[in-house]
Formats: sequence, C-alpha cells, structure tokens
Amino acid sequence: MAKQSKAVVCRELNKPVVVEEVTIASPKRNEVMIKMKACGVCHSDYSATNGTIPMPPPLVLGHEAAGVIEEVGEGVTDVQVGDTVVVSWIPMCGKCRYCASGRPQLCDVAAKATFTLPDGTSRITDKSGNTLNHFAGVSVMSEYATVHQDNVIKIESDIPSTAAALVGCAVMTGVGAALNTAKVEPGATVVVFGAGGIGLNVIQGCAVAGAEKIIAVDMEDKKLEFARNFGATHTINPGTDGDAVAKAIELTGGGADYAFECIGLPATITQSYNAIAKGGTAVVVGVSKLTDNVTLGTFLMPFQEKVLTGSMYGSARPRVDFPRLLNLYRGNRLKLDELVTATYSIDDAPRAFEDMLSGVNARGVIVF
Ligand SMILES: [Zn+2]
Ligand SMILES: [Zn+2]
Repeated sequence: MAKQSKAVVCRELNKPVVVEEVTIASPKRNEVMIKMKACGVCHSDYSATNGTIPMPPPLVLGHEAAGVIEEVGEGVTDVQVGDTVVVSWIPMCGKCRYCASGRPQLCDVAAKATFTLPDGTSRITDKSGNTLNHFAGVSVMSEYATVHQDNVIKIESDIPSTAAALVGCAVMTGVGAALNTAKVEPGATVVVFGAGGIGLNVIQGCAVAGAEKIIAVDMEDKKLEFARNFGATHTINPGTDGDAVAKAIELTGGGADYAFECIGLPATITQSYNAIAKGGTAVVVGVSKLTDNVTLGTFLMPFQEKVLTGSMYGSARPRVDFPRLLNLYRGNRLKLDELVTATYSIDDAPRAFEDMLSGVNARGVIVF
C-alpha cells in the first residue's frame, strides 16, 4: 500500500535541503518497501545538492540506512516482511560482466540506475503528483522507501539501527577501501588525507588490517582528534605542521606503503601519489568535480612502480561484506557507535546538513 512519508528533498541546486511530505508507491515486482529506522547524513548527499555529483533535482536524498521490510512485491524471495535490512546503494544485478566476475561495485545496472530504480522509473511523488528522483537509486532519507530487492541486505535484528545504517555507506566505503581495494598488509605504513566520515573508516580499516603507522592528515584539529580515537598513530595538520607530503615521507622513512585520498580534491590526490614509496598504492576514495584533473610527473613512473587506483564503495560485495563488517563490530574490532556523534529527527535534517559541513560530527544520523 502506498505510504505518506516525510522525506528530505533537494528541490533546487545550491539551496538548503527541505523536509516535505511525499507519497511512496507500493513495491512492484522484485521490489520492497522499507520502514526506515536510521539514515546517516553523508557528504555525498550534500554533493548532490550542489551539483558535484550530477543528479537532476527534485531528489529525495539518503543512501546510508537501515530499516525493516514493510511490504514485498511479487517475486521477492530474498527478504520477508519484518526482516531487518541495510540498504546497499548498488543493486548488484548478479549477471553483468562485473557482477559475474566478483566486482558488483562496478555493476552495469547500478551505473545506469543512478537517480531511478533499476527499471528507470521512480516510486516517489509530491503533493502535486509530480515525480521526484531517487538519489543513488534508493532515496532512504525518508520514513518509507521503495527500492529493488537487490538493494537490500538482510542483517540480524539486534544490531543498533544507527550502527547498521553506517555500514551502508561510510563504513563500507572506508573500511572496504583499506581491506578490499588496497588489501593493506600487516606492518604497513599508511597516510590518510581527510579525516571525515570516510577517512575515519579508512583509518579503522587499516588498524583492523594491522598497519604499523597510520598517519591522518586534516586541516581541522577536531577531526584529527577523532582520527586518533579510530586508530591513527600520527596526525598532521598542514595548517600548523607544514607540508603533509614531506612530513609523511619523513615519518615513514621514505614514503608510505599506502595512501588514501578521502576528500576529492586534485591537490590531495596528487599529494597521495607523491606520499607513497616505490611500489606503493594510492587510493582515491573522495569524489571530485567532473571537471577536475591532476597532473603527475611521468618520467619516474616506470622506475617507481606506483599504483594509483580508485575505490568504488570500498570495492563492496555487500552480501559478503555487510555481515562481515557487522561481525567485526560485534567483536569490538570496528567502532560504529563511536562514529555516531549526533542524532536528529527528520524535521531537523537541515541542521544535520549544517553540522556536517561545519565538521562537528564524526557522523550525524537521522533516527526515525
Ligand atoms: Zn555516502
Ligand atoms: Zn551487475
């Protein structure tokens, strides 16, 4: 049955988000409706409101959530009404060349359905009957959401919903970049540029992997304090400590084994590449602007065998990785509750976005 639902909407680019009442349609074939419990406020939601991530408004935001299945459409076999689920913002069709070869984070179906469900249509209408788009193919910053069953992963119901929600984006993206994309080895040295929600998770992923030195770089001391709590062994504030690359090279005795860029700026992507040692790996996690470019010196490339790679969604294989990350949390090896530094009602969503931009939170979460 269709539901009335308060939702966080981007109506116009470069304007604050608004909370409005929308109608969520019943699930069609292979779709499910979720009653949301918690939804994290991620920097990517903000990036959709200013055009950095190009998606056409009006958009219902949200892509990092946990909830309970409210209704299932025809043909749904993966979950039942009452199941607790975490939302994955890639649908993993299971059939394309990437899914078939074990890299569902690169799924072709997901790449096509960025602001609709996989069939190219929306399940959200406003009071005037106009259609709203689904941010990241899900739109879960809403009391209810209808998504494809390939976008939900069943989890055990006793996990706090705030912690579970974060596994759907920040934790998967950050910890996954360390464990899946880079495969950080025990005893490695690491430098992490940017200690926001993603950077903190890269840091704790590197700690789980047994990295010896984890150097966090950020312009804000508050974030560096968070970084130390999540496993950073050293911190650099380029504003007061000087050049981050020179410091990182000094601290690692010639360059780090791995660098992670978690901001999305050409300058720090270049610094990540320059901060790694010969044979090292630099991983770009941050999303930069469509028009951004970097320039790298090419002469030394053959001599240094450095690797520069992107990391999409922490190279997630959600069906394997979500339960794995939650088990690491159960075993006290991942800090998820500590990431949640503030919770908000959905009516307070505009303030949650302001707080994210001012950097006061590790992660703000909307609780329903
Ligand atoms: Zn996100
Ligand atoms: Zn696929």
